[in-house]
Amino acid sequence: MRIARLSVPEIAGPVFGVISGTRVDIIKGHPFAEIELTGVGFELDDVKILAPVLPSKVVCVGKNYADHAKELGGEVPAEPVIFIKPSTTVIGEEDPIILPSQSSNVHHEAELAIVIGHLCKNVEVARASEVILGYTIANDVTARDLQQSDGQWTRAKSFDTFCPLGPWIETELDPTNLAISCEVNGEIKQSGNTSDMVRGAHEMVSWISKVMTLLPGDVILTGTPAGVGPIVNGDMVEVTIAGIGTLANPVKQGG
Ligand code: MG
Repeated sequence: MRIARLSVPEIAGPVFGVISGTRVDIIKGHPFAEIELTGVGFELDDVKILAPVLPSKVVCVGKNYADHAKELGGEVPAEPVIFIKPSTTVIGEEDPIILPSQSSNVHHEAELAIVIGHLCKNVEVARASEVILGYTIANDVTARDLQQSDGQWTRAKSFDTFCPLGPWIETELDPTNLAISCEVNGEIKQSGNTSDMVRGAHEMVSWISKVMTLLPGDVILTGTPAGVGPIVNGDMVEVTIAGIGTLANPVKQGG
């Protein structure tokens, strides 16, 4: 099932819907309980797709592909390295990534994103799939110069608009062998496969849940393959993951 969060004509506030083909059927409430259709539907062309969730937190795994750890001049760490992007970084499909004046080297990072479906803590790997609602696409936008100069990553990862997410959540997906790529202005910059992750999606849900309680709608970014590089004013950056789709965002210079 393909679940999106939407702004639709004549209904106040965002709603969730199930996409089939070019149509979307609106559901009652939210997708973290049993899904019930309202009977109201729209053509996809007539709605605006929003970021698929508003997470309480976005937890990210650093250096989870060996080729990317190498291009940053390091190795895969013995224990996972995690960090958090604030919820205010999240934007949706087609929303602009705004480049901050404090950085002159902002990079794209194509990533598979896990969407948590249930409140959970201390989840064993074998049961991780029970707490996952599905998967979507993310761009872990990073001010590389600030990441290097600050010595820790919070500022570099946390500017508003630095977490494009979407366009929808795919609930029926095996995350272990998916082609993942990033194009800038139609030119391929990153091309990898989730099978090259050092630690897989289920393992990371388990590991992170032993640190912090995960809430419905929380998002885990699973790391990026090699090929990260700069995005500049006027670019169009597109992240594609097999079985999900493409997340496209224009890039604009902020003040
Ligand atoms: Mg990343």
